[in-house]
Amino acid sequence: MSFDFAARVERVEPSATLAISNKASELESDGVDVVDLSVGEPDFPTPENVVSAGQDAMAAGHTGYTPSNGIPELREAIASKLRDDGIDAESDEVIVTPGGKQALFETFQTLIDDGDEVVLLDPAWVSYEAMAKLSGGTLNRVDTAPYDFQLEPALEDLEAAVSDETELLVINSPSNPTGAVYSDAALAGVRDLAVEHDVTVISDEIYQQITYGVEPTSLATLQGMGERTVTINGFSKAYSMTGWRLGYLHAPESLVSQAAKLHSHSVSCAVNFVQHAGLEALEHTDEAVLEMRDAFRERRDMLADLFAEHDVDVPVGDGAFYMMLPVAEDDQEWCAGAIEDAHVATVPGSAFGSPGYARISYAASEERLREAVDRLAEHGYI
Ligand code: PMP
Ligand code: GLU
Repeated sequence: MSFDFAARVERVEPSATLAISNKASELESDGVDVVDLSVGEPDFPTPENVVSAGQDAMAAGHTGYTPSNGIPELREAIASKLRDDGIDAESDEVIVTPGGKQALFETFQTLIDDGDEVVLLDPAWVSYEAMAKLSGGTLNRVDTAPYDFQLEPALEDLEAAVSDETELLVINSPSNPTGAVYSDAALAGVRDLAVEHDVTVISDEIYQQITYGVEPTSLATLQGMGERTVTINGFSKAYSMTGWRLGYLHAPESLVSQAAKLHSHSVSCAVNFVQHAGLEALEHTDEAVLEMRDAFRERRDMLADLFAEHDVDVPVGDGAFYMMLPVAEDDQEWCAGAIEDAHVATVPGSAFGSPGYARISYAASEERLREAVDRLAEHGYI
């Protein structure tokens, strides 16, 4: 039979990041050695103490449903972490979700009606566009590429885009896909616009702990922002826990109580023993986080140097584990060629709204990163 699909699913494409990583896995299963720099996933094992906490929780019988918004100890630990960051947070303003992605999804679904305007800063992580479209929103995009992906010089453009019609603005610092960490002055500019036009802002801080020599500011700490910011974070990146699926949102209680309806009717709750592992991660894992961060920093510097040796100047950010490599105008063709010929998987910048670049995730060993650059050079891609 032919299905009559809902318009909302027909409006979106599958995740480009996951699609390319699937393509890389397919080639690998055919015996091809692919250097996969596509999906953004730390290549470290989950820290041992976190694994043990998950196993212990499972063995202790924490295998049933939990309260929908999360176990009280974890919600309190998250609120306490947010207070350490300077956010005025209480545990009843937190929803624990299966991944930051679900927290974002619930936020879009809670706030965006058909025709509501969502403003994104390009290049923007692939799923924001899809989530906006799935909730019926219309997109208004501001390009930071002309400003080396920094927000401060793009503030005038943002000011031109944000109006009383804007419902939601998405800020992601440190940024996927650029690695940019926005300055306090840039965030103050965001605050001024959000307050002036009464806009809700998502501050996606999932890469917060992966920064190099800078301390990122949480948007909700700025005066006037606590009441209009949804802070998103999670465990995937900082603690190398992508497959555990654990994240959260923090927002004013009025928003949380609406989002909680979606949460309870869709996922019920995040996995019980995973929440216990998350508690351990938050409370006792600082050292492992720092070790991973140092490794990412070394890889970033090494990779930028290797590209420089080939006269390719890559704008390098102070956070996350991504960089945007300037490539041919037709970035899709470039990426398709790079994976087919050089067996190096990257994601076209156009998937993030910025053609002419390929996103590289440097969450790979130094040896594999060298191999990637060698192969790209050998096949004439750089
Ligand atoms: N936000 C950004 C910017 C991301 O790159 C990711 C990566 N998957 C997420 C949110 C969601 O991550 P997760 O669902 O694994 O917590
Ligand atoms: N956020 C990661 C990335 O951008 C993981 C894949 C995804 O969720 O899109 O590659």
